[in-house]
Amino acid sequence: KKKDKGDKPIEGSQRYDIKKAHKLGSGAFSEVYLAEDKQHKGTYVAVKVIDRTALRGKEESLQNEISVLQKLKHPNIVQLLDVFDDKSHVYLVMELVTGGELFDMIVARGNYTEKDASSLISTILEAVDYMHTKGVVHRDLKPENLLYYNEEPDSKIMISDFGLSKAEGSGVMATACGTPGYVAPEVLNQLPYGKEIDVWSIGVITYILLCGYPPFYAEEDSVLFAQIMRGEYDFDSPYWDGISDSAKDFIRHLMCLDVSKRYTCRQALEHSWISGKTALDINIH
Ligand code: ADP
Ligand code: MG
Repeated sequence: KKKDKGDKPIEGSQRYDIKKAHKLGSGAFSEVYLAEDKQHKGTYVAVKVIDRTALRGKEESLQNEISVLQKLKHPNIVQLLDVFDDKSHVYLVMELVTGGELFDMIVARGNYTEKDASSLISTILEAVDYMHTKGVVHRDLKPENLLYYNEEPDSKIMISDFGLSKAEGSGVMATACGTPGYVAPEVLNQLPYGKEIDVWSIGVITYILLCGYPPFYAEEDSVLFAQIMRGEYDFDSPYWDGISDSAKDFIRHLMCLDVSKRYTCRQALEHSWISGKTALDINIH
């Protein structure tokens, strides 16, 4: 058989045709573009282009984490397919998802019930539990990083953006990270932290899903941090009046200041708001 170019895998830098005119999104240090796999024409992927200057000193940890992330295979986790780099950038090739961010979809839908939220959170908990069993902590769970797979009304949700996630190594992961409003108190307190921080963030996401506003809010970051570190949040009237006690109980166990008492993903999955019939079937906004 003739050995032509198509027979052997080509370098990542050659393999993907990045469509610079088709930006899918952007973050603080990265841009995400649509790209076509030149070896499989018609197959599209998302390529996250990370500026190397933003990585100073952290390149090694990024490299370590990439090898772990490539092993994650789950129907609700955006898969990392390939990685390559050049002098100025690191390129993460990911499975393409086209349904947009979680909140945009909910706003567009018009009606939303506790049951809808419960089923969504159940899926997220299962996927995050899977990561945790593989020793991976996401560290930046928030609505912007939850993307719908496609534009169908019943599309599955996908967890994305492992830019900050890190394989849980020798126990202590004490870098300040994440996004202020979703970050767990122990991170802000600069204590050693682990998987539990993801559960806290899922609690914050659940809170927002049910009332439409975040549990912690302040103009100034220092005030916001203080609220989070004290675990100061309320189920304010009238916004929470129609929400079940079961939902509030669920949130209290996720957004629980005491890390040793905070639910694990598995415990959260067993709560009746997720596994039972306590999530209400009435429209909440
Ligand atoms: P950052 O770490 O900079 O926040 P993200 O990975 O969250 O980067 O990507 C930024 C945005 O790009 C996302 O909010 C989303 O809109 C878009 N995006 C990210 N990954 C994908 C993907 N796999 N498919 C389609 N769009 C994506
Ligand atoms: Mg992001």
